[in-house]
Amino acid sequence: MSFTKYIFVTGGVTSSLGKGIVSASLAMLLQERGLSVTIQKLDPYINVDPGTLNPYEHGECYVTVDGAETDLDLGHYERFLGVETTKANNVTTGKIYQEVIEKERRGDFLGKTVQVIPHITDEIKRRVMLLGQEDQYDVVLTEIGGTVGDIESLPYIEAGRQLKFELGPTNTLFIHLTLVPYLAATGELKTKPTQHSVKVLLENGIQPDILVLRAEKNLTSDIRRKVALFCNVEMDAVIESVDVSTIYEVPLLLQKERLDEITIRKLNLEKTKTPDLGPWTEVVNRLKNPECAVKIGLVGKYVELADSYKSIMESLSHAGATYRCKVEITCIHSEKITEDNVNEILAEQHGIIVAPGFGDRGIDGKIIAARYAREQEIPFLGICLGMQCAVIEFARNILGYKDAHSTEMDKGTKYPVIDLMEEQKGITEKGGTMRLGAWDCKIREGTKVHKFYNKTFIRERHRHRYEFNNTFLKAFEDAGFLASGINPDSNLVEIMELTGHPFFIGVQFHPEYSSTVMKPHPLFIHFVKSSLDHSVKHKDKKEVLARK
Ligand code: GLN
Repeated sequence: MSFTKYIFVTGGVTSSLGKGIVSASLAMLLQERGLSVTIQKLDPYINVDPGTLNPYEHGECYVTVDGAETDLDLGHYERFLGVETTKANNVTTGKIYQEVIEKERRGDFLGKTVQVIPHITDEIKRRVMLLGQEDQYDVVLTEIGGTVGDIESLPYIEAGRQLKFELGPTNTLFIHLTLVPYLAATGELKTKPTQHSVKVLLENGIQPDILVLRAEKNLTSDIRRKVALFCNVEMDAVIESVDVSTIYEVPLLLQKERLDEITIRKLNLEKTKTPDLGPWTEVVNRLKNPECAVKIGLVGKYVELADSYKSIMESLSHAGATYRCKVEITCIHSEKITEDNVNEILAEQHGIIVAPGFGDRGIDGKIIAARYAREQEIPFLGICLGMQCAVIEFARNILGYKDAHSTEMDKGTKYPVIDLMEEQKGITEKGGTMRLGAWDCKIREGTKVHKFYNKTFIRERHRHRYEFNNTFLKAFEDAGFLASGINPDSNLVEIMELTGHPFFIGVQFHPEYSSTVMKPHPLFIHFVKSSLDHSVKHKDKKEVLARK
């Protein structure tokens, strides 16, 4: 008999209600009570993973240490829990069907007709239970993507229903998150959409145990009573979740609503300790009451959708909290940057990040931004493609390699300073074939990054096909652009840092995937610090100019 308890979180009324944040918050609260918790996301789309999706579709693609390309909600889980997730934490309909079809081809179903029920639902159940195997977690929290009532979510809801039946009511819990809209014209919060979405769940055989209601205004006790009565939920299990200025405040508010306590009661979870949310509260206070501000320009090509750069933005905010500093991020479309307007666009920024990306759309603007940061001595952090842009820029403007480029953008360049990795050369399939997951990096002593990490060996997550071309390394190093981090096995350049500049660092990996609320990433901490220093200098310079 397993001791693991299973919590399912579903969403109703509309999407984008913050199911991921509510799930991560509850998981964090349970963890603070001494329970071991993991979170899983079930995504109803047919892509095998989001790796092949354009960020405009579902936002950033997050990468786990074991190399899975996953939904961005896994980023929230890691940031809230401070615990790494793995491949098993993100399942898509594509993955489920792939597995079932492979089994069918092998003959595993012994001539049976393969159907959504039981074969697809069994595979979903297997994936959920996999995380609870050998009781490695006290609680497995599974977030079901999409909105209740969607055709594609049905097998997941059915699998959850079956698990509740099989494991019993004290071992499974259903939390349903809905929206209670506020009608300004009548000054009322409306509960009808919630009633309807609970009705849909009931039609599917699920009685939610807890309701979390997203609302612009606080819920009155009348509203709570009404929802409780019409939705068959205990009055104290009707929880409010009001809009907040930082997502990191959500767990604190949900705790005030006693979401963790009610969960523990309903699941008969024993031996829990009193949570200590002091350090978390301190971070939230720092975020809400900053004493200074710094402007960071984030140059990318998917800027219309802020979720495309979710982890970078969150990492900046974690680092900002360290200095009680509000990080004001301006997303800048790289396609809009030209030699002529770069000063106008970037002059007011105290730090510049050039974002990761693929393909040549907007590449020129990224290269121009890197040059501007180098020449104007503005702190610069180039991430993955951003690092590659800094290398291309340096090759062209300092080493005099006219038209140097990455072979991703220009196959015939005379100076392929960024080139396809050797092991990528025979690969034709797009899905899951990049250099993915955590890889070792040895840091050169005496460099800035060595000081920042205060370590010689690090492991960071990757997602790329191209790399720095070592044929040119000596020329770069002779000119002061050093490979300060190298993969010890393949010699692949992991970090480039420019000497004689306050902060000009390019990383082939993604530090943003491993920054958490309680442990901001050293590169972001020092980037924000350096940008703060720059802001002071910048202000002094402006004052001197104004006095003249
Ligand atoms: N397109 C580049 C490569 O594949 C960079 C990838 C990235 O920024 N994640 O190497």
